[in-house]
Amino acid sequence: MQQKTALIKRREVAAAKLRPCKANRIPKLLPIKQKKFPENFSQSLTGADQGHNPQGINAGAEGNGLREQDVTYQVGMYLRELLEEDPRFAVRVSRHTPNEILGTSNATSLRARVQMANSWPADYFLSIHCNANSNPAINGSEAYVYQANTQPYWLGQHILIGITQQAGTRDNGVRLNPSLYVLRKTTMPAVLVELGYLTNQADAQRLKNDQWGFAQGIYYGLLSYFGFRTL
Ligand SMILES: [Zn+2]
Repeated sequence: MQQKTALIKRREVAAAKLRPCKANRIPKLLPIKQKKFPENFSQSLTGADQGHNPQGINAGAEGNGLREQDVTYQVGMYLRELLEEDPRFAVRVSRHTPNEILGTSNATSLRARVQMANSWPADYFLSIHCNANSNPAINGSEAYVYQANTQPYWLGQHILIGITQQAGTRDNGVRLNPSLYVLRKTTMPAVLVELGYLTNQADAQRLKNDQWGFAQGIYYGLLSYFGFRTL
């Protein structure tokens, strides 16, 4: 109950902060391509994968007392909530409860996430992660895609702008990693988002205290990519 009240409060604060994306004012990313939907567009089907399992096989990184899988689970659930309230989107998550474990090995865990998206099939796939580095000074948000100058590449740019504006992390840009399974095996445009560094104290504070802001940043990035207005 207390959690619900906190959520409503956060929403009110979030609504007060609604503003158009400032993408056009960031020169290094100009021009960011958008995906304009045709007139008969109905819904974008978005697969939101919360990256890792709660424990054991395919568990995530840790830093500053935080576990990646807990942060990404909650950010994914908040993102689902935002997308469910917007009739222009339909959404499915890979982990439905904090304890849900996908797969029995690292490989089958990743395969289950990809299958969720491919069998739906989703129009877009977002895999949500947190980063870690042995150097605690390394910080910021980044996105990984299969190939440069593609729809997922531009979507990644919009998502990073959304996150850095809403959650206050540094924009490290979109990077290429064609070896990542979830980017290779998904049949739709796919973006792997690293929200921030658990091993950096400032990022960890944000990842702990502003999970709603990260979800909202991803959501605003999707809106901006599609050229949609906020509701
Ligand atoms: Zn991860």
